[in-house]
Amino acid sequence: MALNYSNKINKIRTFALSLIFIGFGVMYVGIILKSIEWLMVIFFILGLLCIIFSTVVYFWIGMLSTKAVQITCPTCEKPTKILGRVDACMHCKQPITLDKNLEGKEFDEKYNTKDYRNSLKNNPNNK
Ligand SMILES: [Zn+2]
Repeated sequence: MALNYSNKINKIRTFALSLIFIGFGVMYVGIILKSIEWLMVIFFILGLLCIIFSTVVYFWIGMLSTKAVQITCPTCEKPTKILGRVDACMHCKQPITLDKNLEGKEFDEKYNTKDYRNSLKNNPNNK
């Protein structure tokens, strides 16, 4: 089954990395526009904000990483970190769940949502 899903920590990391590139890109536009001083300043500030935001995201990943559960992937046997009830392996994208009730079920991102958890709480037979 081709799964269009990747590990959450990896996803956030990719996002943070692309933010750095966007930041530099925006600053580069600022350099091109250096004849218009105020525009250059605006682009530089925007670029700087992207890079600052990216470091914040990196910091946030660090925090998430400490909370993530480290397990050995049953498929590729490499250590991976998962977030939430369901996540994918960092290496082979094998969907993994921590919840026994969800084992063998078709992978669905909805298992991570609050609505789903609440529906389990309100109706325990609906497992
Ligand atoms: Zn794996």
